[in-house]
Amino acid sequence: VTGDVVVITCLECGTHADADAHGWEGHLADLDDDGEDEVAFSCPDCVAREFGE
Ligand SMILES: [Zn+2]
Repeated sequence: VTGDVVVITCLECGTHADADAHGWEGHLADLDDDGEDEVAFSCPDCVAREFGE
């Protein structure tokens, strides 16, 4: 393995996480409708908007 870079992308707005992904949340969602859940990530802004109220 030669340094795979895992890019965490926000499911909601498409922004990319910083290296530490501070404040990001992962959750399970069936993103491609294949009947199996993938791990989706949301950035802090979207977490606040989606879950913060
Ligand atoms: Zn977002």
